[in-house]
Amino acid sequence: MRILKLKRQNLFPFLQAISNGAELWGPIKKDNQTIFNFVPTEEIAKLNLNFTRTLLPPKKLFVPPSFIMFQVTNKGYQEDYSWIKERVLFGLHPCDLHGLLNLDRIFAQNFPDSYYVQARQKTLLLGLSCWPDDYCLCQSTHTDIIEEGFDLFFTDLEDYYLVWIGSSKGDDLIRLKPEFFEEGLNEKDIESYIKWRERRAQAFKTKINFVFMPDLMELKYNSPLWEKAGAACLACGSCSMVCPTCNCYNVRDEISLGNKPGRRVREWDSCTLLEYSLVAGGENFREKKSSRLKLWYTHKLQAFGSKFGKPSCVGCGRCLVTCPVGINVKSISDSLEGQKVDAFWVRFSEEVRP
Ligand code: SF4
Ligand code: SF4
Repeated sequence: MRILKLKRQNLFPFLQAISNGAELWGPIKKDNQTIFNFVPTEEIAKLNLNFTRTLLPPKKLFVPPSFIMFQVTNKGYQEDYSWIKERVLFGLHPCDLHGLLNLDRIFAQNFPDSYYVQARQKTLLLGLSCWPDDYCLCQSTHTDIIEEGFDLFFTDLEDYYLVWIGSSKGDDLIRLKPEFFEEGLNEKDIESYIKWRERRAQAFKTKINFVFMPDLMELKYNSPLWEKAGAACLACGSCSMVCPTCNCYNVRDEISLGNKPGRRVREWDSCTLLEYSLVAGGENFREKKSSRLKLWYTHKLQAFGSKFGKPSCVGCGRCLVTCPVGINVKSISDSLEGQKVDAFWVRFSEEVRP
């Protein structure tokens, strides 16, 4: 992989140059809040690179929360790809790039989803290094470093960036402004990078033993912990909305009277919601919240791994900061391991359901 150097002050001019004709998306902080989101911007200066995670993961660019798949008239149907644009998405941390690689396995391999595939093809992915906070778990999932799945990746070494070229499209971007980049790293650059890697590796505070999880999910399938977590769960679906690898969706037909076209709409869904397992005739296979949580965690900690060789959790920490009652991949994993967990759902179950 070719690696170049980019002076810090040249990053925004470079982004400006390459986003000519494409929508530039990047991390922007919501006014007076601590929340970051990937949003489109024409003002590069608004990009805020000092963030750990965005509220919603980048999956929203490739599978929007709700979109029209096709419109139907009495003449036939017309697929709608109008929401798919040429885009440059900047600021993807390694966990989010791994999340997209996971979605590729679902949506772009055996049964390609034409919407997802087109959106992926039209979006350039520009990664950015990061520093872990108390919720980052990506070292435990081995997703703290990324070696593929991006067009360019920028490692921040304070005075300058190391720029890793990950694709021929990434190489084409560099050719638009070659004067910004320096070829050839010297010994000092390499030393700085190694030291940065070592310091970052030591900065992770939160860990999960993912290797044990598939076995523990099996062995503790009937553990009371699921009832306890289910009692506290609000079935709000937030954990699925923020998780970069949750990919379930629902499809709804909207029929119109008269000459208006009907349409088929696709929307994010979550297995933690009651309606998710509702089938014709009114039967619901997972009426209990505990069963639905068990399904969610089976996907994260066991089933995806047995099919694809790695857990579907990429350690982004979003479920840790989002679930209002403290049910997350860390508190559930710790409970499965038999550790004493200090979370609302445990305290709730001890107080309310001894
Ligand atoms: S399970 Fe939680 S930590 Fe893991 S990828 Fe999903 S939101 Fe991130
Ligand atoms: S686990 Fe938490 S975030 Fe997920 S549905 Fe239950 S209450 Fe909501």
